[in-house]
Amino acid sequence: MIFINFKNEFNFEYDIQALIRGFYPGEELKSIMPGEKIEACDESIRFIVSFYYFADNINIEVEDCSGNILIDKRVKTDYSDRKETKNILKRALYDVLSEITGKELPWGTLSGIRPTKITSALLESGMKKEIAKKYIKDTYYISEEKAKLSLEISANEIEILKEIDYEQGYSLYIGIPFCPTTCLYCSFTSYPITRYKEKVWAYIDAVCKEIDYISEEFKDKILNTIYIGGGTPTTLEPEMLDKLLGKIVNSFNLCDLKEFTVEAGRPDSITVDKLKVIKKYNVTRISINPQTMKQETLDIIGRRHSVSQVIESFKCARGLGFDNINMDFIMGLPGESIEDVKYTMEETKKLMPDSITIHSLAIKRAARLNIFKDKYKDYEYVNGEENMQLTYKTAREMGMEPYYLYRQKNMTGNMENVGYSVKGKAGIYNILIMEEKQPIIALGAGASTKLVYPGGERIERVENVKDVNEYINRIEEMIERKRGAIIEWKKI
Ligand code: SF4
Repeated sequence: MIFINFKNEFNFEYDIQALIRGFYPGEELKSIMPGEKIEACDESIRFIVSFYYFADNINIEVEDCSGNILIDKRVKTDYSDRKETKNILKRALYDVLSEITGKELPWGTLSGIRPTKITSALLESGMKKEIAKKYIKDTYYISEEKAKLSLEISANEIEILKEIDYEQGYSLYIGIPFCPTTCLYCSFTSYPITRYKEKVWAYIDAVCKEIDYISEEFKDKILNTIYIGGGTPTTLEPEMLDKLLGKIVNSFNLCDLKEFTVEAGRPDSITVDKLKVIKKYNVTRISINPQTMKQETLDIIGRRHSVSQVIESFKCARGLGFDNINMDFIMGLPGESIEDVKYTMEETKKLMPDSITIHSLAIKRAARLNIFKDKYKDYEYVNGEENMQLTYKTAREMGMEPYYLYRQKNMTGNMENVGYSVKGKAGIYNILIMEEKQPIIALGAGASTKLVYPGGERIERVENVKDVNEYINRIEEMIERKRGAIIEWKKI
């Protein structure tokens, strides 16, 4: 455990904790607030890091339980700019932690989920790439590789989004929260389809009621992208997909639609008949997600599908004319070495998808991998710059460019998630959900609508209940909840 001792009132507790976690993943942290005392200090305590300010100095002191000062650092600030003060404090703490551990963090002092928010703002302000790179390296201690990656992605994002109308446009998300089985690392709202079979029609009917309301309420707006995700939308039977997709196509004006995605996801849920229905409604982009091409790992993580099912469903979709297929992969899966990742990438190259999304495994509290962690403690979770460079190189060999990036808490190797695509096949919705520049109207259980106010200054969220039964039973209430927030949003 590490004690974080705030001797004065500090506003940056969250940032300080996040940075310490970057250097000490999984370590327990305890904040001691001004006026509180450190109770027992014994060998279970790694060290105490204290923060206090005096005049124009911020002091950081690291001591052991016996009171021996290990490091004492002082930095100057005039506190006039909150953001600048935070950056000065974080750089000082980074130096301290780097000295103790001998480590550097690829993303430096950045702990937020969207590094590209910073780089996009710099490029949009007209700053040259080289100057922007120097700025983010100096300000946030970002490594050369990550600085280059973030800038490259920002430039691509800006280009992809230039035709999106933020004022009049919006995107639509529909969540199908059913899956064939629950993956070991899953922390989403997902119900095993076999146990919820009886509920699925009622669920679709409830979603259709939301569609009726939104298509009317937004009839003067421009629908830019549609994303059907989950869960696994292809757990729906062909006639269910037919009803849902038919309802969408008949309810909304799709003249300006730039992308229509169905995340097929699990290969064990995909059939020819389902793909034919999806094709019939002119869905432009689908995702077939292997996560890995190593069968042993698929078995460990509870995907219950084979590598050959991945290949068969991909070839079947291509045969039916799908010309924009994404594949998701996860780095840091239990027991996977860099050699396994190499193998997965080689197998993927044989299929030549149009885009790939590389995720770094993030173990969340609700995931079975966390709940039953003792069972999986003997596996290594290998992820790092080597994985990222290997996947970057493979994407390049397939003619792809990186186009979106985000980070999460507790990612293995403190890495990132990156989307790559060949030209013209980027997942536009993926960028929009990260950039928060236009409203995303989300339908279905657990779906979270984001109403972006003009200029992106304020975002209002409207949540649907997570539980499927509750969602079905309280659908009118969910619609009224949306209506209230949308009426307010439209007033501005
Ligand atoms: S397919 Fe996705 S949503 Fe379904 S259980 Fe696996 S991780 Fe969760």
